[in-house]
Amino acid sequence: MKNCEYHQIDPQSLSTPNPTPPPPPPCAERKTKRAKRKWEAFPGRNRFYCDGRIILARQSGVLPLTLGLILVTSGLFFVFDCPFLVEHLTSCIPVIGGVLFVFVVITLLQTSFTDPGILPRAGPDEAADIERQIDNSGSASYRPPPRTKEILIHEQVVKLKYCFTCKMFRPPRTSHCSLCDNCVERFDHHCPWVGNCVGKRNYRFFYSFIVSLSFLTAFIFGCVTTHLVMLSQGGNGIIVALQESPARYPFYTATCGSVELVVCFFSVWSILGLSGFHTYLVASNLTTNEDIKGSWSGKSGSEGSGNPYSYSNIFTNCCAVLCGPMPPSLIDRRGFLPPDDAPPTAPPEVELPALEVKSDMNMEDRCQDFAVSCAG
Ligand SMILES: [Zn+2]
Ligand SMILES: [Zn+2]
Repeated sequence: MKNCEYHQIDPQSLSTPNPTPPPPPPCAERKTKRAKRKWEAFPGRNRFYCDGRIILARQSGVLPLTLGLILVTSGLFFVFDCPFLVEHLTSCIPVIGGVLFVFVVITLLQTSFTDPGILPRAGPDEAADIERQIDNSGSASYRPPPRTKEILIHEQVVKLKYCFTCKMFRPPRTSHCSLCDNCVERFDHHCPWVGNCVGKRNYRFFYSFIVSLSFLTAFIFGCVTTHLVMLSQGGNGIIVALQESPARYPFYTATCGSVELVVCFFSVWSILGLSGFHTYLVASNLTTNEDIKGSWSGKSGSEGSGNPYSYSNIFTNCCAVLCGPMPPSLIDRRGFLPPDDAPPTAPPEVELPALEVKSDMNMEDRCQDFAVSCAG
């Protein structure tokens, strides 16, 4: 696994999708020059693994903790609870637990390793074109021209903000994640627990992950409680159990049972609450970002005329969010860079007027929308 981070921007290379490798260089150069892939010059703050196949946020340190908690708790359950429960209740328990566990791990990894819907930054030509449009729309006064656009969505006016990092007007529902430094389509939030942004392309995996995790946690919690109650009921149950394995059960009740109970007890309520909250969001076709900012409820100064993306039907909203066609990744991270990828220098006609550059610097911070964390 190779880990590379690059901050060098090569917008020209990103703006031209070119999945075919460039023609091989002459024999003399072939040994020294290797065709670079686009992830190696990716401008955002992401980590790439497996030659660009896997994408993660730079601060993905909490992901091993999430994975570790799931593995340890499930491992203790399978090793210490399952044999007892199979013997005294039913053999379905490890099967149900196993299916839930596999589903949880797969959806977690899919959420973490999938491109959340990153928008490629505008190339120099595209950026210059947008700048020209803004200049033409502004008056000849000293004030910089407006950096917002208004469009109609389902007869409702939606404001598009200009992103000074990506040099473009953000499409509807797109937000710039300050941690990953990318504009993400249908940005929900940046989740440190999964080590990635949650957006248009991985929200369905994220939702499946938290819902299945709440089932798994509740299931393990129920099984561990049942196990401990059966052991402590006294009579034949605990005596038989202790006779069968005199060393294992006292050790189990003292340590593993309490570890599992504590982890499950504290996580089950927060995960159930999070699942409930996201079920409400899915049913109303909202994102966490929109809900917190109150984009459609009048909190942010809008008229509060309702969410223009909602289909006014819970079932249709759920289908649209969770079962709609999977949009393709737009960053083409495995594509090849053009052979002579010189450092990006803006052509003369692209250079911005001094005022624009200044406002760009001032607005840079404003552009960075705060990332809503899972914990928050
Ligand atoms: Zn942006
Ligand atoms: Zn992010």
